[in-house]
Amino acid sequence: MSAQKSRRRIAMVSEHASPLALLGGVDAGGQNVAVAELSAALAAQGHEVVVYTRRDDTDLLDRVDTEHGYTVVHVPAGPPRKLPKDDLLQYMPAFGDFLAEQWEQWRPDVAHAHFWMSGLATLRAARRRGVPVVQTFHALGVVKRRHQGRDDTSPDERIRLETELARKVDWVAATCTDEVAELRRMGRDQSAMSVVPCGVNPTEFCHIGPAATRGKPQRIVSVGRLVPRKGFETVIRAMPQLPTAELVIVGGPDKSELDSDAEAQRLNAVAGQCGVADRVHLYGAIARDEMPMLLRSADVVAATPWYEPFGIVPLEAMACGVPVVASAVGGMLDTVVDEGTGRLVPPRDPRRCADAITPILADRNLRAALGRAGRARVQQRYSWQRVAEETAAVYDRMAGSVS
Ligand code: UDP
Repeated sequence: MSAQKSRRRIAMVSEHASPLALLGGVDAGGQNVAVAELSAALAAQGHEVVVYTRRDDTDLLDRVDTEHGYTVVHVPAGPPRKLPKDDLLQYMPAFGDFLAEQWEQWRPDVAHAHFWMSGLATLRAARRRGVPVVQTFHALGVVKRRHQGRDDTSPDERIRLETELARKVDWVAATCTDEVAELRRMGRDQSAMSVVPCGVNPTEFCHIGPAATRGKPQRIVSVGRLVPRKGFETVIRAMPQLPTAELVIVGGPDKSELDSDAEAQRLNAVAGQCGVADRVHLYGAIARDEMPMLLRSADVVAATPWYEPFGIVPLEAMACGVPVVASAVGGMLDTVVDEGTGRLVPPRDPRRCADAITPILADRNLRAALGRAGRARVQQRYSWQRVAEETAAVYDRMAGSVS
């Protein structure tokens, strides 16, 4: 598509995940990045993009015009303070009513909802204003429940409401092939669904540039929100088999608050039990602009979640020319090529994780070859520019005027 031919008005709806938020906290990660980067790339292609996210702080302005060419509107729905995302369902009617009001003045050509609760609010407004809805789930309640069982704190109604939503929206942009299969099982018509992955900015995340200093000759890096399902425990339990390496875990609260974080305490205890506490370092959250330098300091990035709707970190590592050892689940089945850009291993299996990492640490040439292939793959398929073009093609279809 050409931006000049069809400049669209796009409403991005992301109830809990603001593109302006700091990352690393329990509810701030890939969705924030995806909404920010996709909005910026679409704006750069000439589209008018407004992101609607919940006002979670009284200090926020009603409207922020970002330097990246898109606007963020802070939606008054529920108390203006940080709340766990699992408490937000009750505020979605108010969120939807606010959107409907806004769209009376500024009617978007398409609304793109991120996460199921955004979908509910978006549909409520869109049906009133005749706006087509594209839905990206970023995560599915059925998958979460399957893996987390009673630890899943999602609202009880999630699976029912999400299933209804999946059947009602005009288009589903799934983030990976595996999710398409899940959605089909939920009753989604496959003819109005496609895979639109998340992406990475290959200029920002690049193999060339400074690298953070290491404490040991070899370094494994793992990045993500500090929650059990991210599987940091698996890599820690692999460490006794990897005696020359250190493991750096990035994510969670700021380093100053790490000592009081329950998951950080649990992971440190596991490291102690495994006798590797001196080689496992929890860094807490780091700023986005420090991430490429940190990733470049790794010989291998380990991404070993129990399940993963997409997984942006593996792409960021690949863009930095670093091999990735990833769980063979979800989005990583699409992004990571086993023996090509890294290794795919079964989740929750420390021995297989260590077996996959060992040869990569041992062989500089193998590392370089996997890293080069990873970077090439990202450049070819996963730049946000390309993802934005694919997304805009979906919008064109929805707006009914493919030019
Ligand atoms: N991230 C970050 N700082 C941190 C931890 C994570 O900037 O301390 C970023 C990371 O680089 C990636 C995103 O947060 O861009 C995490 O996305 P991913 O899809 O891997 O995981 P999710 O949070 O969606 O489960």
